[in-house]
Amino acid sequence: MKIEIDSKSGFCVGVVKAIKMAEEELATGNKVLSLGDIMHNKVEMDRLEKLGLTSINSSQLLDCVDETILIRAHGEPISTYQKLKDLDIKYLDATCGVVAHLQKQVKTAYEKMQLVDGQVVILGKHKHPEVVGLTGHINEKAIVIDSLQELISKVDFTRPIYLLSQTTKSLDLFNIIAEEITERYKDYPEGYATIKDSICRQVSNRYPHLGVFSTKYDIIIFVSGADSSNGIALFEECKKNNKNSYKIEDESQIDIEWFRGCESVGICGATSTPLWLMERVASHIKDFGL
Ligand code: SF4
Repeated sequence: MKIEIDSKSGFCVGVVKAIKMAEEELATGNKVLSLGDIMHNKVEMDRLEKLGLTSINSSQLLDCVDETILIRAHGEPISTYQKLKDLDIKYLDATCGVVAHLQKQVKTAYEKMQLVDGQVVILGKHKHPEVVGLTGHINEKAIVIDSLQELISKVDFTRPIYLLSQTTKSLDLFNIIAEEITERYKDYPEGYATIKDSICRQVSNRYPHLGVFSTKYDIIIFVSGADSSNGIALFEECKKNNKNSYKIEDESQIDIEWFRGCESVGICGATSTPLWLMERVASHIKDFGL
């Protein structure tokens, strides 16, 4: 059976940066405490934990004054930086460059909207760490929506609006929201509605790619942590294009029966899926000798 790993799957630059920073600090012999899991992938987190990385939450910071804290790619609200400063805790900031840029955009949007009694609207998953970080840069003065229905029920369409998006939201949903706003504001003066597509192309470019990739094989094995938002969405794209797609966290979840009658298998994954794990999955399938 032909087995191929998608060359475009695996860590995005933001995750690579966070892991590199953690590994470099761990190599000096220091313990590293990350504020939340560096990524939504239990298998890779287990590997890093064996090297000495521990995941904590912000309520545990008081007990960590002598340790090194790692801020992950999702970023943090201003209050976290203030807390670290107040407690004089050493920290490494692995906020992804794309997220850091978006935090600045959110701040600029808020300043502009304040001048005109407008609203900052963020398309994002409620309570997602990146969204908590974004709203935490403007004192939570943003309206977070996760659907068209929420846009309609939460936004005051008589006031100016500035729309941005969490980096990993679906481009299709963003476009639906943007179209609704454009339609509702079409009779207002220019500048009343500002729409900024802030979706990270490291994720959105993978949708069309995986759409094509998944049609090339009899079976698709998608490797991803169960909680990864982009993993769930990218897997849906595979499933849409190839009904014979399966999502697994690691090779122990593979059932040999899935491969009966198949001649080719494509292996792919999320932005938090390590290449070594996809290789391990490939090798496991190879061992079936099909
Ligand atoms: S998906 Fe994009 S924004 Fe998010 S960590 Fe990766 S590179 Fe950064």
